[in-house]
Amino acid sequence: MTDTVIIGGGHNALVTAFYLAKAGRTPLVLERRPIVGGCAISEDFAPGFRAPTLAHTLGPIRPSIVRDMQLERRGVAFARPDPRILAPADDGRVLAFTNDPRTSAEAIAKFSAKDAARYPEFCDALGKVGGFLQSLVEMTPPSIDAPSKAEMWELLKTGRKFRSLGRRHSFALLRWGPMAVADLVAEWFETDLLRAAIAAPGIFGTFMGPWSAGTGAVLLLAAANDPQPGGTSVTAAGGPGHVTHAMAEAAREAGAEIRTGVDVVRILVRDGAVSGVALADGTELAANVVISGVDPKRTFLGLVDPVELEPGFLTRIRNYRVPGTAAKLNFALSSLPAFTGLDGTDAASALRGRVHIGPGIDYLERAFDASKYGEIPEQPYLDVRFPTLTDPSMAPAGRQVMSVYMQYAPFTLRGGATWDSRRSTLASTVLRTLERYAPGVTRLVEHEQVITPPDLERVFGLTGGHVFHGELALDQLFTMRPTLGWGQYRTPIRNLFLCGSGTHPGNGLTGGSGRNAAREILKSR
Ligand SMILES: Cc1cc2nc3c(=O)[nH]c(=O)nc-3n(C[C@H](O)[C@H](O)[C@H](O)COP(=O)(O)OP(=O)(O)OC[C@H]3O[C@@H](n4cnc5c(N)ncnc54)[C@H](O)[C@@H]3O)c2cc1C
Repeated sequence: MTDTVIIGGGHNALVTAFYLAKAGRTPLVLERRPIVGGCAISEDFAPGFRAPTLAHTLGPIRPSIVRDMQLERRGVAFARPDPRILAPADDGRVLAFTNDPRTSAEAIAKFSAKDAARYPEFCDALGKVGGFLQSLVEMTPPSIDAPSKAEMWELLKTGRKFRSLGRRHSFALLRWGPMAVADLVAEWFETDLLRAAIAAPGIFGTFMGPWSAGTGAVLLLAAANDPQPGGTSVTAAGGPGHVTHAMAEAAREAGAEIRTGVDVVRILVRDGAVSGVALADGTELAANVVISGVDPKRTFLGLVDPVELEPGFLTRIRNYRVPGTAAKLNFALSSLPAFTGLDGTDAASALRGRVHIGPGIDYLERAFDASKYGEIPEQPYLDVRFPTLTDPSMAPAGRQVMSVYMQYAPFTLRGGATWDSRRSTLASTVLRTLERYAPGVTRLVEHEQVITPPDLERVFGLTGGHVFHGELALDQLFTMRPTLGWGQYRTPIRNLFLCGSGTHPGNGLTGGSGRNAAREILKSR
């Protein structure tokens, strides 16, 4: 009998495994793919070229997790590029966001003196509100029906922190969440490029455009991880795969066992309690506790026999929205592309952060519009990185890797078109878009890897191709993630828990869901 089985070896599952093992449990992690890391992996995609296959920026990982898992001692070199973000404009200029708000403001002044004057105040407001929200992402959402004394105490402490925000910032927090992020940024700034770059974390990974209500909440959730306008740019040499490799080492050292190439096909239940898992090869493993690091839809609709779940719960999980809109393209380049607007600067240091392609709010909204109707936008929103500038060993000498996150790529194409017939359209659309800002980039391409939304589901196990295991919408956050009444990592099946991104807080590579889940699981026995 195994003490605890964890399904999936994504970064959240590895974090959960580590904390359980540290507390004396003996978790067994079962990962379907040949490597652990889930969406946080680095793989070879062409001879001599290695890319962050999917995610290329960290959430960032919660500092306490970095410390507890001793990730830096294990060789992880985190990179905090400066400038953090470059946002090219349509007129050939480039706006650089640096780590120091004053130098960012100087760059903004070239676009608008008024915006430059407001920027430090915006940084301050986002920092204060983000700081408060950080305490919310670290806590377990309280029970709605019967909050315990400890939960009431936590809520009281949260209430005090909220009050200490002061009238202005607490009011901002309450207003910003339900707002469309386009309205939010318009209240502060007049430059369209600046508005779009700052609004982008509010739409990243979602099936929402900047004019969708509630994108303000997604922006705030991102600010809880890193409150800098435009979002985080933290990465690691070797890509996020290097981080999950070290996480696996930490979990093993603490006492966890990790097996790869093991596909769990069924969660076994007896008398309302979990009793183990069945594997694709027919083996059954008995276990006292099963924890799923796989998304909630796949867990409850794919792995659990529906007779074990109450119909109301099943309906809510069926209604849980997972509309994927992301594609990922990795390009092997013969050299670094020349971005207009960077002439005369040291391009290799300027491009170490993220490049935001989406020069205006309407541009982003139109890209979303196309995907709403099942079409690939002609001018997509792109988030681009050159991981070889942080770690040159990811390509042969002198060559570069260009990692492109593309949004909005609708999971279901209009008129029943298949994605396999649109793979090359995706690559040409992305390159055509980039040509406007980095003329000649297409000629530098030696190899390309195109990962479509259905690939995200089929190969990487993300239902609907959703990068966060489920939409980060107001009705699917906090006590309602994944669904109302089940926001505490427990499930209707005794000793079956969730620890993946489909649980609170669930927004990206922070380890937050895995850490919070481990705390609750350890309380439960
Ligand atoms: C293209 C893309 C770009 C992204 N970019 C960023 C970014 O820049 N920054 C950021 O913070 N976040 C980004 N994200 C989101 C982030 O990577 C994910 O939200 C996060 O990695 C989820 O982690 P997880 O551990 O919860 O689950 P996952 O990483 O999804 O891991 C789940 C694991 O379970 C395994 N599995 C599934 N089914 C089974 C089964 N039946 N048996 C055994 N194993 C199974 C899967 O193979 C997978 O390894 C991106 C995601 C994608 C897809």
